[in-house]
Amino acid sequence: MNTLDETQWFTEVCEEGGSAISFRIHGRLHEEQTPYQRIEIYDTTDFGKLMVIDGFVMLTSRDNFLYHEMMSHPALFTHPDPKRVVIIGGGDCGTLREVLRHDGVQHVLQVEIDERVTRLAERYFPELCEANDDPRVEFLFGDGIRWMKEAAPGSVDLVIVDSTDPIGPAEGLFTEPFYRSCHRALGEHGLLVQQSESPLLHFDSIIQPMHAAMRAAGFGHTHTLPFPQPCYPSGWWSATLAGKQPVDRFREQDARQRNFDTRYYTEGVHRGALEPPAFFLR
Ligand code: SAM
Repeated sequence: MNTLDETQWFTEVCEEGGSAISFRIHGRLHEEQTPYQRIEIYDTTDFGKLMVIDGFVMLTSRDNFLYHEMMSHPALFTHPDPKRVVIIGGGDCGTLREVLRHDGVQHVLQVEIDERVTRLAERYFPELCEANDDPRVEFLFGDGIRWMKEAAPGSVDLVIVDSTDPIGPAEGLFTEPFYRSCHRALGEHGLLVQQSESPLLHFDSIIQPMHAAMRAAGFGHTHTLPFPQPCYPSGWWSATLAGKQPVDRFREQDARQRNFDTRYYTEGVHRGALEPPAFFLR
């Protein structure tokens, strides 16, 4: 149960963590039920705008840079020369904006199931959508699972799965058949990165099975990169990389000499995130 109580706090309860996270709000700016999910936008007192889907926090203006930078730059600096990128989900366009900072990227296709997420992001999170008119971008509003099944073999360098939690329309994005489709669609140096929930709360239930499914689908190399994310359950989140080639090394010099600003990502943050916490190794 996720509630808006009389004291004007939005609360997301995390049942499996026995915990909750709350934001003090001025009020609700928007709510609608789309054919896929229920979307709400709140105006918070300290975190800017807040987007909620089916009661779960998606992003806030204040801390989304952590997630979006870690969902994009480590993977882009791991691939030797990423030109063709596909984002599955990602409707708020924050990941898309980060991908487009890489000059070498020639084409980004974003396959988002729910066009309303993107339209509301344009209205309430315009800073995340500022690169949407870039000629390298193509938007397709449809099911990412289906698109990936039909993708031409070897036609993609990097797949970024920026999805909701593994329930509802995103459930199939966390399965071996989907990873198999990705493996087929990816070229020789291709890699996949997927948001993989909380290392504290979901290591056994989601992260480990994700590695197993990615490896069963043919990816020889997998690695989970943890990073802070205050607005999500436990405040600690992760991105899991799966590659046809090793994913525990990257183009460090290019990362250091990048020609764009970041707020969290640096080559040192990337290197640190590659060092597994002790309990990952048990
Ligand atoms: N940063 C967020 C998080 O981890 O909570 C995710 C943000 S983004 C808004 C997630 C998007 O994935 C949603 O807009 C949702 O519509 C989309 N999505 C879910 N299942 C999908 C599918 N099967 N194909 C394409 N997009 C999907």
